[in-house]
Amino acid sequence: MNNSREVVKLSILGSTGSIGIQTLQVIEQSRGKFEVLYLTTNRNIDLLYQQVQKFAPKGVVIRDYDMFKEFKKKYNANIKVFSGEDALDEVAASSENDLVVSAIVGFSGVKPTISALASGKNVALANKESIVVAGEIITEITRKYNSKIISIDSEHNAILQCLVGENLDTVEEVILTASGGPFLNTDPKNFEHIQIQEALAHPRWSMGKKISIDSATLMNKGLEVIEAHWLFNLETDKIKVLIHPESIIHSMVQFIDGSIKAQLGPPDMRIPISFALNYPNRFKYDFPRINLAKIEKLSFFEPNHNKFPCLRLAYDALAVGGSAPIVLNASNEIAVNAFLGGKITFDKIPACIEFALNKINNKAKPSLEEIYYIDKLTREITESFINNLN
Ligand code: NDP
Ligand code: MG
Repeated sequence: MNNSREVVKLSILGSTGSIGIQTLQVIEQSRGKFEVLYLTTNRNIDLLYQQVQKFAPKGVVIRDYDMFKEFKKKYNANIKVFSGEDALDEVAASSENDLVVSAIVGFSGVKPTISALASGKNVALANKESIVVAGEIITEITRKYNSKIISIDSEHNAILQCLVGENLDTVEEVILTASGGPFLNTDPKNFEHIQIQEALAHPRWSMGKKISIDSATLMNKGLEVIEAHWLFNLETDKIKVLIHPESIIHSMVQFIDGSIKAQLGPPDMRIPISFALNYPNRFKYDFPRINLAKIEKLSFFEPNHNKFPCLRLAYDALAVGGSAPIVLNASNEIAVNAFLGGKITFDKIPACIEFALNKINNKAKPSLEEIYYIDKLTREITESFINNLN
């Protein structure tokens, strides 16, 4: 990733998801700057095959074994086709990669993200869950192997842009902006009756299901607070959240002299993706521009932690440290799945997380094996809590 005209070889983990698809759109508009080496999916083999035809990667990984067999039966792709977790790790760690885009959703992204970073390659990171659960280990790995994380998450991408030419020691605080999600103005008394489709309908961004629900509960912002802590080495009290419903300012940094820098742009993930792919340079793209004259106002207000307890739970988990963020993440994944599966109502999501956080003893400095164990234990405990609710 230097300024030369050399082609950058990259692999996309989770190419069939919202971020994966948009990453390929950016690549398509990059006039030959990137070459796709490997693409991966969990189950969406039809879309994967379309991507194979268009981008001619060297190989693909289909995580789900049944869909892997189906792909082999259905398509005669003249490329390497692998399946399973180990294959994902191998592709992530391939010495041929110049850059790895980590865009798998949830805890499943942890190992391949670590594998990519441990191979000394830079990672364009969308999978925020990996840094939430393994922030300390990941930070150590990036130091040891001299790899770098460039966040695709629009807030952290904005902060990175604000920090260009600045010294981290002069940061007073960062302000993560949040749209507030679809229920910003909904009376919490009605949270019990929220329909799945209403929760999935984010007012500003079109995203995968899990992050859409996380945005509706504000857990997404909570995960981003933890992400900011690790990415920018910031103490909890230096990470603020402001609701900004217009989603034009993607985040801000306030410096010790009282100056604030903000990054603005349309709510279009292709912009932070393109910044991450081309980092530290910029490249010309014809994505839509914003017309500030047409935007009547930019508004900001404090989040309501009582109405959206997930944000408070995430701040608390970060303050406690150790294994608390692992428990927070795993119980959230189970609760979100349960809501999407019609097993619990929307208002019960924070209760599931709070239960798990109270139930599981904290472990300081968990190893990767311990992270796996705590993740699994939390899932079991949260599932039994949910079963007892019904
Ligand atoms: P999606 O659900 O749209 O896509 C997830 C991708 O991961 C798909 O390719 C999916 O395959 C694959 N996948 C799912 N489960 C597994 C598994 N167990 N093993 C291997 N691969 C798997 O998610 P998003 O693109 O919305 O989000 C991806 C990540 O990016 C998340 O961590 C999210 O928080 C983050 N992010 C997303 C933003 C957005 O705008 N979407 C913005 C900022 C961050 P399949 O297609 O078969 O399901
Ligand atoms: Mg974000």
